[in-house]
Amino acid sequence: MVLPFKHEPFTDFDNQKNKEEFESALKLVESELGKDYPLVINGERIYTEDKLVSINPNDKDQVVGKVSKATKEHVDQAMDAALEAFTTWRKMPAAARADVLFRAAAIVRRRKHEFSAWLVYDAGKPWNQADGDTAEGIDFLEYYGRQMLELASGKKLADRANEHNAYFYQPMGPGVVIPPWNFAFAIVCGTAVAPIVAGNPVLLKPSEHTPVIAYKLVEVLEEAGLPRGVLNFVPGDPAEIGDYLVDHKDTHFINFTGSRNTGLRIIERAAIVQEGQKHIKRVIAELGGKDTIIVDKEADLDLAADSIVNSAFGFSGQKCSACSRAVIHKDVYDEVLAKSIELTKKLTIGNPTNENVYMAAVSNQQQFNKIKNYIEIGKDEGELVYGGEVDDSKGYFITPTIFSNVDPDARIMQEEIFGPVVAFAKGNDFDELIEIANNTEYGLTGAVISNNREHLEKARYDFHVGNLYFNRGCTAAIVGYQPFGGFKMSGTDSKAGGPDYLQYFLEAKVVTEMY
Ligand code: GLU
Repeated sequence: MVLPFKHEPFTDFDNQKNKEEFESALKLVESELGKDYPLVINGERIYTEDKLVSINPNDKDQVVGKVSKATKEHVDQAMDAALEAFTTWRKMPAAARADVLFRAAAIVRRRKHEFSAWLVYDAGKPWNQADGDTAEGIDFLEYYGRQMLELASGKKLADRANEHNAYFYQPMGPGVVIPPWNFAFAIVCGTAVAPIVAGNPVLLKPSEHTPVIAYKLVEVLEEAGLPRGVLNFVPGDPAEIGDYLVDHKDTHFINFTGSRNTGLRIIERAAIVQEGQKHIKRVIAELGGKDTIIVDKEADLDLAADSIVNSAFGFSGQKCSACSRAVIHKDVYDEVLAKSIELTKKLTIGNPTNENVYMAAVSNQQQFNKIKNYIEIGKDEGELVYGGEVDDSKGYFITPTIFSNVDPDARIMQEEIFGPVVAFAKGNDFDELIEIANNTEYGLTGAVISNNREHLEKARYDFHVGNLYFNRGCTAAIVGYQPFGGFKMSGTDSKAGGPDYLQYFLEAKVVTEMY
C-alpha cells in the first residue's frame, strides 16, 4: 500500500552529526570533479568532442564536469528513441510507472547529502538551499507517483440503460523538457518525471550552467528501472538545439521553466505547425516574477523584516519567487527598513564548498553582469542604503543590496533582476499598497504582513498573484502544500507540485459502449 504523501524534512545543520555527514559528501563530490559526462539516447552513452564545461560559481577555476553537447542529429535520434519507447511505456500500468518514481525517491533519499553536495558545486548553492532543492526533488517523485495512481482509473461518468461510458486519461506522446539552473535538481526532476509518469517519453535539455546534477538524475531514474528511450538526455547549446527541440514535428509538449522572453518565444514557435505534424503542441511555461511583500500599518514588524530579508536574499534572490519589492505603509516604513538593514548585516557570505554560509556567489557571469547593471540603475532610481558591492575576481560575489524610496514605476521596481537586490517603496494606505504591488506585468508570488483581517481578505481577492502568502515570506513553496505557479507574464499557472499538474501531460478520452 502506498502511504499518504509527506514532504521530505529539511536537514538541521546545527546538529554536529548532520554537519559532518554533509562535509563528507562535499569531500566525496570534490573527489569526482572534472569528469566527462555523456549524452544518453535510448540508454546509450554518447560522448562528443564539443563539451559544456560546468564551473563552480564560487571558484571559477574549478571545473565541476564536462558534459557532451547534443547536435540536431542527436535530437533526431533521441526523438526516434522516444517515439519507439512510447509504444510500450504508454501501456505500462500506471502503478508500474509510479513505482519507478518511488524507487528513484528512495535512491535519492539514501544519497541525499551527495546530491546536495553536487548542487553546492554545480549550482553554487549554500547548504540549506541545496538541501531544500534535493528535498523538493524527492517530494516531486513521491507526489507525482501518487497523483498518477489517483488518475489511473479516470473519472466517473453517468451510465444510461444499455450504455456504458468510461472517462480515462492517456499520455500525449514524446515531449521536450527545458528546466532552469536555479533549482537544478528539484525543477529538473519535477518537470521531467511528471510527463514521464503520465506515460510520455522525454527529451531533457538541462541548463548549460548546471548539466552535471541533471545527469545524476538520469542515472538515478535508470537505476530505478526506467526503460531505455523514456528519458533521453540531450544537453547542449540553446542557440544550437533549443529551437530545434521546440520546432520538431514529433514534439507534443514543451515543459519550460525560465525567463519570460524565452517562454514567449517557445509559445510562439510551438504554435507553428511543422510539415508532417499531426497534433497541436502544448506549452507549459513557468516564467519570471517581480514579487512583492506588503507590510501593513498594523503588523508584526520583526516578522515583516525577517520575511523580506529571507525572501530577498535566500539563494541570492535567484528564485522566480524572490521578494524584489517591499511595499510598506508610510507609518511603519522607517522602522521596517531599519530592521531589515540590521538583519541583512548579519548574513554570512562565502564559499559553501568550504563552509555553511547564508549566501554565496551568483550562478554565472551573465547573471553577475546583469545584476551589477541593475545595481547601477538602482543608484539613479533610489537611495542605496545597504550593499551594492560586486566582485567577480574569484567567484561571482554580490552583497545583499537594499534600495530605499524607489518609485513604483522605476525599472528596479518593474524588471526581474534575479539577484540579491530589493527595492523599498512607500504607500499611504492599504489600497495603495495593493495597487503598487499589482503594478507589474508579473503575477507569481506575493506576501502580506498584516494583523488586519479586513485587509487580508481584500488581498486574498485583489492581490493578483498565483501564490499569495499571509504573515510569512513569499518563497519556499512546498510540493503538495503550496502548488506553485503564477498569472500574467509569470506563466501558464500550471501549479507544479499540485493536484492538476499531471493533466497537462494527459489527454482525456471517453469511450461509450452500447450493450
Ligand atoms: N518554488 C520555488 C519557491 O517557492 C521557486 C521556484 C523558482 O524559482 O523557479 O521559492
